[in-house]
Amino acid sequence: MTGDGAGAGSRQAFQRAERVLLGGVDSPVRSFGAVGGTPLFFDRGRGPYLWDVDGHRFVDLVNSWGAIVLGHASPSVIRAVRRSAGLGLSFGAPSVLEHELAERIVRAVPSVERLRFVNSGTEAVMSAVRAARGFTGRPKVVKFEGGYHGHSDGLLARAGSGLATAAIADSAGVPSSVVRDTLVTPYNDLDALARLFERHGEAIAAVVVEPVAGNMNVVVPDQEFLPGLARLCRRFGSLLIADEVITGFRLRRGAIHPEYGIRADLVTFGKIIGGGLPVGAYGGRKEILETVAPLGPVYQAGTLAGNPVVMAAGAAVLDALTPAVYRRLERSSARIAGRWTEIAREEGVRGFFVPRVGSMLGLFFGPEPPRNYADAMGVDRKRYARFFHAMLDRGVYLPPSPLETTFVSAAIGPREIDRMERAAREGFRLARGSR
Ligand code: PMP
Repeated sequence: MTGDGAGAGSRQAFQRAERVLLGGVDSPVRSFGAVGGTPLFFDRGRGPYLWDVDGHRFVDLVNSWGAIVLGHASPSVIRAVRRSAGLGLSFGAPSVLEHELAERIVRAVPSVERLRFVNSGTEAVMSAVRAARGFTGRPKVVKFEGGYHGHSDGLLARAGSGLATAAIADSAGVPSSVVRDTLVTPYNDLDALARLFERHGEAIAAVVVEPVAGNMNVVVPDQEFLPGLARLCRRFGSLLIADEVITGFRLRRGAIHPEYGIRADLVTFGKIIGGGLPVGAYGGRKEILETVAPLGPVYQAGTLAGNPVVMAAGAAVLDALTPAVYRRLERSSARIAGRWTEIAREEGVRGFFVPRVGSMLGLFFGPEPPRNYADAMGVDRKRYARFFHAMLDRGVYLPPSPLETTFVSAAIGPREIDRMERAAREGFRLARGSR
């Protein structure tokens, strides 16, 4: 594997962490298992940059896996967090901050009439699926190969993200009885989905889909895929759950699924709506949400759900996300995707693509842009690892896995873009190497 760019501080920190934290990390992809070397430990972020414990500065293209959209320590967000924290960290009772953030989301997403906050994307999707089952009285859920919807038992079947690089098809510890009601089918394949509905349609409570898939590199939906999926759901009386944990408020104000001509019954959020603090939310049609406690028989609860500091951070981020910010994100992202593709070609790297929707970019070393999980798994992992380390050595922090999304923040400007282009040129030269 490629050289270890970690400084002495990160290496020491990792050794210490490994003695008390399992694998030294709190989420598997952070371990650098997919690219080799020692994970960097960070102690500071500001704007487009992160600083590691050795004092090295990096342009950040991970951005907390998409949760950070304005850049690190954005002043208006930090002010809101400070103000809220000073008033108490948790009440375990309602605060107006909850409905104030919910109002912003409901206004921006026509398919969301009622909303419930939870603490993570995992919880959001798990709860949405429970509501769908409760509402329809049906047992089965359809997900797509390479789609990741958090680590709840029933959705850990052929999931992407960390599972894809760890080559765990299904997680140990999940009984087959739990995934028996999870049906898995390829993304972008309407015929396969139609066959699944012909066989199981009457038992399908919901289809859960990432409108732009972001856990098997970036996979853009074919034009007909989402509308066709929505038609099948309607025909068989199944609900459509748009998992917008990544895409919500990243690609536009609100959800992205309406742009593809569909209306979801349930929508899940996370990441950006918490401004970098732990959050999730699920919402949708009023009559479906009303099956959830306290109004209905589906149980779901949370000690820290709707936490005031999180709500304040989320509202500050959504207020800062003006049309101008989205235009800036689009401009920078298009520039990075376009120039890196050209530079790769100029440096003689064949088979490099940047599938992209807005500020979600895939850095894909492979024969063609992926259309599904099988394509995504064909990525040249060694080449990505070489590129990753070359970029790391030049002060650019990319996702430490070839199957994750690269996220641009609004704090990245022309200076960072130029700097990254110079790094990328050398990176591609080194990545080209021998296979
Ligand atoms: N859904 C999607 C589409 C995701 O990408 C993720 C995590 N990246 C989740 C759900 C789970 O979110 P969390 O990690 O906050 O539990």
